Amino acid sequence: MKTNTFISTVDYARQLDREATTFRDEFYIKEEIYYMDGNSLGLLSKRAERTLLNSLQDWKELGIDGWMSGKQPWFEFSERLGALTAPLIGAQPEETIVTGSITANLHQVLATFYEPDGKRTKIVADELDFPSDIYAIKAQLKLHGLEPEEHLVLVKSRDGRTINEDDVIAAMTDEVAIVWLPSVLYRSGQLLDMKRLTAEAHRRGILIGFDLAHSIGALPHSLHDWGVDFAVWCNYKYLNSGPGGVGGMFVHSNHHGIAPGLAGWFSSKKDKQFDMEHELSHAETAGAFQVGTPHVLSIAPLLGSLEMFAEAGIERLREKSLHMTEYMMYLIEEELCEFGFEIGNPRENDRRGGHVCLEHHEAARICKALKDNNVIPDFRAPNVIRLAPMALYNTYEEIWQTITILKHIMKTEQYKNYENTRNVVA
Ligand SMILES: *Cc1c(COP(=O)(O)O)cnc(C)c1O
Repeated sequence: MKTNTFISTVDYARQLDREATTFRDEFYIKEEIYYMDGNSLGLLSKRAERTLLNSLQDWKELGIDGWMSGKQPWFEFSERLGALTAPLIGAQPEETIVTGSITANLHQVLATFYEPDGKRTKIVADELDFPSDIYAIKAQLKLHGLEPEEHLVLVKSRDGRTINEDDVIAAMTDEVAIVWLPSVLYRSGQLLDMKRLTAEAHRRGILIGFDLAHSIGALPHSLHDWGVDFAVWCNYKYLNSGPGGVGGMFVHSNHHGIAPGLAGWFSSKKDKQFDMEHELSHAETAGAFQVGTPHVLSIAPLLGSLEMFAEAGIERLREKSLHMTEYMMYLIEEELCEFGFEIGNPRENDRRGGHVCLEHHEAARICKALKDNNVIPDFRAPNVIRLAPMALYNTYEEIWQTITILKHIMKTEQYKNYENTRNVVA
């Protein structure tokens, strides 16, 4: 990383854009809209559109034969896309599968790997975790007849924004079976030290897994080398696979051969699946953790999208993303200091993900005013505005525009025209 001496003029932003590598031309972008929400739903690229249309074409031309002889044969599509995802997370191809959603895949992970045994019955998560992950963990505890109040340990935050790794490690007692954490916290954008946490969990005989929703496509990982046991993610955020795009799952090769807790015919070894036997011969790869027929049309856009990530290179995207968010934080501090904002994400590059967490007690209505001024952020209750410039397609000038518009909204008190409550979908 260069040490940055930014300048607050729009000309400077334009100069940064001239020097930057971008895939902006490959996306459908409305020039008059400043889209800072690619961490919730990434935009459509022309390549993702093309691979979706390819699958429709295969269906149109081939009917059932699209499974084996289409341009993008559906029968091994999930495995193929898993292999193409693997470089983004530092996995081996057969450790990665595209399937399910985050929540469904977490159920699969727990149904497979959570085996309360003697006094090792507890699952450790954190009190700032995304609700769906917590619902899944509680539901799995109940399926085992265990009370969440007793068996789910939520590591507390010291500052309401971040989780201290030391506190997670202190919670790793000999009563703990599994630790489940986000790689990047969805609200504050804190990046946890996955390598250290994995080593500490394993030293104590505990399995550990991560929800990569806010890190996949945003930064590199080394899941295999770190020895992470399992991970899940969605593909519709940083990976731009579209609304409802199918998610993904990593299971370390150390665990291959284990039977899936939630079994189905797509858990089968590929060459055995159509033997139609009632005894499952499950795959000995991450493919074993699939259940039913893949959602082909919700998978297909990912192929085009992943091609772009392979060309761009995740290390280079991370470098640009850090530079963009650093520039944004610089402008926030330069331009917005009098309006009572606080930056809630950690400032160190190795402790933050791909978005800026901007806190304000009027955040809900500031977000509404931003939207009416063509800036798309998102709001996370109670007081967070998330702003995520995407290295693939956003520009430095859009960041400059975003902060300039925000300053105008604060100066003119335009946000006071709105209620400070969230919408149904925030
Ligand atoms: C987006 C997100 C989810 C969503 O889960 P789905 O099952 O894909 O709907 C779950 N966890 C985290 C941390 C998220 O950011």
